[in-house]
Amino acid sequence: MKLSEMRDLLSTRGIQLTKSLGQNFLHDTNQLERIVRLAQVQPGDQILEIGPGLGPLTEELLKAGATVFAIEKDQRLVTVLNERFTDPKSFTLLHADALEFLKRDRRDWSDWMLVANLPYSVASPILVEFALLPSPPKRVVVTLQLEVAARLMAKSGDDEYGQLSLFVQLQYEPKEWFKIPAGSFFPPPDVDSACIRLDRRHQPLLPPELTPKFFRIVKRAFSERRKMMFKLLKTEWPTARLHAAFESLSISPQIRAEALPLETFVALTKALSTQ
Ligand code: SAM
Repeated sequence: MKLSEMRDLLSTRGIQLTKSLGQNFLHDTNQLERIVRLAQVQPGDQILEIGPGLGPLTEELLKAGATVFAIEKDQRLVTVLNERFTDPKSFTLLHADALEFLKRDRRDWSDWMLVANLPYSVASPILVEFALLPSPPKRVVVTLQLEVAARLMAKSGDDEYGQLSLFVQLQYEPKEWFKIPAGSFFPPPDVDSACIRLDRRHQPLLPPELTPKFFRIVKRAFSERRKMMFKLLKTEWPTARLHAAFESLSISPQIRAEALPLETFVALTKALSTQ
């Protein structure tokens, strides 16, 4: 979808874009094709698209032979999308807030891919919502703020390493990524953007029933970045139990959460679940 087509469509409909809904539309065909290539979309793939906007990415996904289930919050865009994509076999559209939908509809997405240019303000909570599911999408290819992409890829010791890195990496392995220039969007966003691919782990690191405990430990451990995580965890777990777990895993009680790798958080979750 060319920039001129986008502008025409918006002006004929009298649609003024809403900043709070992150309405920066991707009009650069090269970037759109690159996203579809990164997702390795094959004919028949089932794709969830959150925030299709005017449908530039939807168009490319359908061209690649995928079937798309899209969720769009803005009624004005829902009207446009329903006129643009009329084959019910390949395109289904839900008018809803995607975050609210994901919270109430905890379905099995394991055979699906999430491919989306996400609304930046809710990108992180949406990814966390998926990470909490027992059956999240097998692949996630999302465009979001470069800064958020860095957090998704970060390892212990990196400045960007934190709750989001751990929540998402429990389920997913970050793969390739690329920057998308601001000029590829209409209007250009104020922040840098990147597209990142995350593949679901073949072997889950934890059984699904321990995921909430992992989240609880990580949240508490990062609740005050400068404090030693042992002290922070003591507010929720008995000291003796924590000592035993830290000792069995050779974790120093002086360590801060940002220095502890994902695998050790996983081991700690298991240790605190068995004692
Ligand atoms: N995919 C389109 C593109 O690449 O041009 C639009 C992407 S734009 C960054 C984000 C889209 O998400 C907008 O269409 C916006 O209306 C929609 N949106 C914002 N918040 C949403 C939410 N909570 N649930 C569903 N859609 C949302």
